[in-house]
Amino acid sequence: MQITGHHLIAGAEVAPTGSLFQAAHTAQGTPLEPSFSDATSEHAHDALLSADAAFDALRLSSPETRAAFLDSLAEEILALGDTLLERAHQETALPMARLTGERGRAVNQCKMFAALLREGSWLQPTIDRAQPDRQPLPKPDVRKVHVPIGPVVVFGASNFPFAIGVVGTDTVCALAAGCPVVVKGHPAHPGTCELLARAVYAALLKHSLPAGSFSLLQGRGNEIGLALVKHPLTQAVAFTGSLRGGRALFDAASARPHPIPVYAEMGSVNPVFLLPGALKERGDKIAEAYIQSVNMGVGQFCTNPAIVLGLSGVDLENFATQTAAHAEAVPPASMLHRGIAEAYEAGTAVWHTIGGLEMVGRSAENPDHDASQAACRIFKAPLEVVEANEELQREVFGPCSIITECADLDSLLRFANGLEGQLTASLHGTEQDLKDFAPLVRVLERKVGRLIFNGFGTGIEPCPSMHHGGPYPAATHSYFTSIGTGSIQRFVRPVCYQGFPDSELPPALQNSNPTGAMRLLDGTLTRDAV
Ligand code: NAP
Repeated sequence: MQITGHHLIAGAEVAPTGSLFQAAHTAQGTPLEPSFSDATSEHAHDALLSADAAFDALRLSSPETRAAFLDSLAEEILALGDTLLERAHQETALPMARLTGERGRAVNQCKMFAALLREGSWLQPTIDRAQPDRQPLPKPDVRKVHVPIGPVVVFGASNFPFAIGVVGTDTVCALAAGCPVVVKGHPAHPGTCELLARAVYAALLKHSLPAGSFSLLQGRGNEIGLALVKHPLTQAVAFTGSLRGGRALFDAASARPHPIPVYAEMGSVNPVFLLPGALKERGDKIAEAYIQSVNMGVGQFCTNPAIVLGLSGVDLENFATQTAAHAEAVPPASMLHRGIAEAYEAGTAVWHTIGGLEMVGRSAENPDHDASQAACRIFKAPLEVVEANEELQREVFGPCSIITECADLDSLLRFANGLEGQLTASLHGTEQDLKDFAPLVRVLERKVGRLIFNGFGTGIEPCPSMHHGGPYPAATHSYFTSIGTGSIQRFVRPVCYQGFPDSELPPALQNSNPTGAMRLLDGTLTRDAV
């Protein structure tokens, strides 16, 4: 399949005009054909007008039609074959094995939401039957179900071109809910975005769903993103990326005459607490797993363990020494694009100037180390140094991390109490450690979206019980997840029907329960008919 550089608006090809840009081959630093252009506010208007026009047909399509569409989308993504993998490899420098795995995750996400639609309970149908004889007043028949909210704007992340990109969770769950989607393509991998967008159209066409259900606009810079967020027809925004970007879009959405939600996932430092029993028992194994986690995806994960904390002493000293040996064995590797590699160099260069922070481990020198590559860097500092320097408590995107020495449980608690919202926190310990450090766990429950015991936050399982989000600034709404089936709840809202005749209710609320969904009927969960 050929990449044209076109914007794709409701299936129509819009050739590049005006300000042009090209993707770069990250590792080689050379431009890739073809040229793309920066979408304009007129393009944003056309895409959202088409999305709004498609909304009724999409939302009123049967769940089975949308499920079959998602199954077809999974097939269409796979049918892009090596063309997709090779282009993504050039644009992101992610290894082919990682991209193949991530493609599998994107395909499985499509199938997961297809299964969710077929099962039906995500609509959360709730029925309270009438009690005409109730005293002193009769009780009306009241029923509630979720409905899709309307056009959704999606900003994909640079680090997951498939699973959090054009066909990532945000797009797939919005379409599953019945919401049309306008994607702002990531400017670092526009060719990958175009190929994936074509897969979406092929699947829509197969199931006679309107082409206006989906558009892809390419562009660099903030204007096009802001135009999409401010457009009056946009009903919600999904974003994964930097705190600065997510916050700018959140503020723009809040300042609209009709504010809309921005579901932004903006990363965190994901503290790891090494409790004494585990450190003594298996510090060497934890050190190895820690360095693997820090370097997974060249450290370009929002769940990267950027700060590790333990009680000062010989076990923590040994741990630091062991991490140094493992870090040395990790070769420098290409980051997603040269801008991110430069930001990593600049971020860690600042760390080098901070007194009391020492580098205890790094990748062994590589004479071929080029400007796209990042070396693993592990630092160590007393807690007081980390607390006194705010920049050490903020994410530096890449394979770096700080081992932090704490004097006692009180200082661990002080640090945990001062934490901003986090996506994850990990505790390495024995069961006895968990009991002894229960106050720490109680504090972390208030700070994070996911608590991990004897593991690391990297490697997220997209399943119903996953929560990928957290208190601000990890995310803009701590209730919602951006990964797993729960993510669909961002794009629906409840509508209550009071006193409606059975035949005019949405299927999920009808007495016979034609959808077969689990429903809350007079306070009891059941699939039974009324
Ligand atoms: P990003 O710079 O936040 O960009 C993500 C998307 O949002 C891009 O399409 C970008 O387009 C757009 N955007 C960013 N700021 C905007 C603004 N003020 N107004 C309108 N649109 C805006 O994220 P990234 O490119 O994925 O990576 C850069 C940094 O984000 C990394 O260094 C890292 O710190 C962080 N990051 C976090 C996660 C995470 O999972 N939370 C994932 C990846 C990266 P333009 O670039 O064209 O403006």
